[in-house]
Amino acid sequence: MSSRTLLVILLGLTAPLTAQTISGKITDRKDGTPLAKALVTLEPLESGTIDSVRTGADGTWSLLITSIEQNDVSHLPRQAQLHANYPNPFNPSTTISFSLPRSGTVRLEVYDALGRLVDARTASLDAGAHRIPWSARGAAGLYFYLLHFENQTLRGKMVQLDGGGGGGLGSFAAGGGEVQSAGEMAEIAKSGIYRLTFSSFGYCPDTLETGLSGSEYIPRTLEHIHDHTLVADLHNDILERMIGDASYHLVDRHSWWQTDLPRMREGGIDLQVLAVWVDPDAYPTHPFNVALDMFDRLESEVSLTAGGLQPVLRAEEIGAATQAIDYIIGVEGGHVIEDDLNKLYDLYHRGMRIFTFTWNNSTRWAASCDDLNKYTVGLSDFGRRVVRACDSLGILIDVAHAGPKTIEDILATTRNPIIDSHTGTAGLRAHKRNLSDDQIRAIAAGGGVIGVIFYPPFIAASGRPATIATVIAHIDYIVHLVGIDYVALGSDFDGVSDSLPAGLRSTADLSNLTVELLKHGYNRVEVEKILGGNFLRVCKQVWR
Ligand SMILES: [Zn+2]
Repeated sequence: MSSRTLLVILLGLTAPLTAQTISGKITDRKDGTPLAKALVTLEPLESGTIDSVRTGADGTWSLLITSIEQNDVSHLPRQAQLHANYPNPFNPSTTISFSLPRSGTVRLEVYDALGRLVDARTASLDAGAHRIPWSARGAAGLYFYLLHFENQTLRGKMVQLDGGGGGGLGSFAAGGGEVQSAGEMAEIAKSGIYRLTFSSFGYCPDTLETGLSGSEYIPRTLEHIHDHTLVADLHNDILERMIGDASYHLVDRHSWWQTDLPRMREGGIDLQVLAVWVDPDAYPTHPFNVALDMFDRLESEVSLTAGGLQPVLRAEEIGAATQAIDYIIGVEGGHVIEDDLNKLYDLYHRGMRIFTFTWNNSTRWAASCDDLNKYTVGLSDFGRRVVRACDSLGILIDVAHAGPKTIEDILATTRNPIIDSHTGTAGLRAHKRNLSDDQIRAIAAGGGVIGVIFYPPFIAASGRPATIATVIAHIDYIVHLVGIDYVALGSDFDGVSDSLPAGLRSTADLSNLTVELLKHGYNRVEVEKILGGNFLRVCKQVWR
């Protein structure tokens, strides 16, 4: 043992407990905003006290560590040298560098924190400095690397901040960084292993297990539950708005109307049902052709987004293109098929996957909620054939705007779960468009789902404004009646003209609803069901 190593060990044994500061910053993964009042907890994995701190307004935090162990440093290099045995936390790649006093065989092994071999490289190398890249592979956390040379083994640590799909160890190359002195090596070898937990209200918590020697800076991003979750909106009428305005393009941001791609992205929407609604008053004849024109227009708008919007025709396509917002075409109003099943098939082949049997107008085969005879007249025989055709094709049936007898007849005929894509509850607000308790129970009994509308006249007392809390009251009502598995969101953005609830005025605002649902007491699993999980379940069941 050289005298220098001995000195280091003696210093290590007699040195007073060192106090060092680690620090970091927590930001929102989506937009980079600093997270204030986020909680950082530091827990030594072996022994010691658990400590915690909250971030300031700028998202930064710092903690004084007093319990860093003094590790045995007798393994420090005698012949070969590692140039650093503790690189700073990295993402996504780092370089391991070392020096050899003479040529020989080197084996480098990387182990995870559980001691499992992750990767290894062996090579015959010349004397001098060498380096080898490590490209993050596997989960975030602490990794060890061992350098075997002659009868010597050197041990280093690396902290991988995020998981990665990289290639692991690359190839050895000549050259490397400065050789550190034994004293510097001893300093950085003083290390304990800690679990750091990062959490903030509304965010998915994150943990990092790492060695700390003090003075580390650990930046961290957290993902909001809203951004982490499949967010589906069951009804949007922007296509009808765009019929009369060839200059409105979904790819551009607008200050009017409620829907375009930039605002949908801002609102974190993952799956949007776009309604093809042909106004029966404006187009009393040939609504089918008008619907096809709307399909054409949508397709040209989608091509302008260069992959920003993506149609989904099968449940397994939902979420497959991670950079795109998925959309589903729902045709709203049975009048569009002009009493002709062939036109239903044509719409299916154009991409329709949801069919709303009526709008406020009845057809010859289905009575609407506006029909004077809605309690006694439901589906005709042809209407039942439409149900069976939807079942066999795998078209999701939507009973929004349908009369009560029509809903009853549909439930008695279909083999599939159904949806009401945009509605309130009659128990809280008596309105012809809202579902009664019995209807909610019947849709839930069939495994279906109910999209709660944001439109104030349907959810708030007559003439009164609605708030996000009003929307949540209707969600609560359904949950209390039938449970958490049958409720979803059906904004009706761009289908409504009256002022929407404050904080829910456009597609850009949807994350506000998630925050309020969490504050209201819904847990993360429940919120995931409301935001899209329940609707996804129904899509998987009905589409083939
Ligand atoms: Zn509607």
